[in-house]
Amino acid sequence: MKALVYQGNHAKAWERMRDPTMQRDSDAIIQIDTATICGTDTHILEGGVSLVQPGTILGHEGTGTVIEVGSATTRIKPGDRVICKCVASCGKCSFCRQGNFGMCSDPEGGWMLGGKAHGVQAEYARIPYADTSLIKIPEPLTSEQVVYLSDIMVTGFEVGILRARVQPGETVVVIGAGPIGLSTMAVARLYSPARLIAVEPSESRRRIAAKYADMAVTPENAQATVDEATGGVGADVAIEAVGKAATFEQCCQLVRVGGRVANIGLHSHPVTLHMEELWIKGISITMGIPDHRTGQVLLDAILKGTIDPTLLTTHRFRMDEIIDAYEVFSKPAESGAVKVLLTADSTIGPRH
Ligand code: ZN
Ligand code: ZN
Repeated sequence: MKALVYQGNHAKAWERMRDPTMQRDSDAIIQIDTATICGTDTHILEGGVSLVQPGTILGHEGTGTVIEVGSATTRIKPGDRVICKCVASCGKCSFCRQGNFGMCSDPEGGWMLGGKAHGVQAEYARIPYADTSLIKIPEPLTSEQVVYLSDIMVTGFEVGILRARVQPGETVVVIGAGPIGLSTMAVARLYSPARLIAVEPSESRRRIAAKYADMAVTPENAQATVDEATGGVGADVAIEAVGKAATFEQCCQLVRVGGRVANIGLHSHPVTLHMEELWIKGISITMGIPDHRTGQVLLDAILKGTIDPTLLTTHRFRMDEIIDAYEVFSKPAESGAVKVLLTADSTIGPRH
């Protein structure tokens, strides 16, 4: 098969790799039909994720059709259309038993796909613990409608909205209108905030943010906007969806006394926590990776039409055009890219 392989030192190639094979009786082999590129993938290429070895197939967001399952797999069957979760879970370890699937301590649990193990930017992929690591796609939904449930929509919901304990009627600020920030805004609606304010420097991204948020403002105007909207009290919740010190600090400034800051962004550098100012504010700060236990809830919301993830797709490519897709995705200021959708050529045919 062909796959997008990380070669180390900023290099990648769409090249021939051995087909994945069953290694355990809880595995499944998937024929990928849709995949996307995540900011984490570009982070890996830049050398920012040391656990990823050269030679690894990238990608942790994808959908496809199951072509083979092991004897221990009971829920997932060949022919099922499925979403690959970005985290795999054994369902048995102490973390899984408490519902912290993202922290699964099994050697093949947690974030493996396109990280410690081969990912889904490929024609085929092996998925460990298929029963707990795949979500079946209901018949009427297309792959594009659900592929963002692999990671960003679920991450925005679990690490942003749920960890921040957003309540109906609250003022919620999301800093950053990239893919993860926009996803967070899309799913915030499920908790009916009174106001959803997007903060984003790029005008083109503010335009997309305005489809999900009530207001989309520049970082310079954020404080005045929040002050005006809340009578000077501050936001109940501020969500960091960039991964930079400045945006994290702005979250801490915009949040009200006793409010909540949820960090989703992936940071490459240390961040200063201004305890000299924050101690008296009594804010809560949360962070982490998703447990991926709400995929079914969000799937139902997409099915009902409450959420439309397809607004995130700005560019489309065939899977074998993935090098071009990376080029477009990694230069959003020039291309206006949010999510690039990769679709398998339907003429792939049988495995070779
Ligand atoms: Zn991701
Ligand atoms: Zn586990």
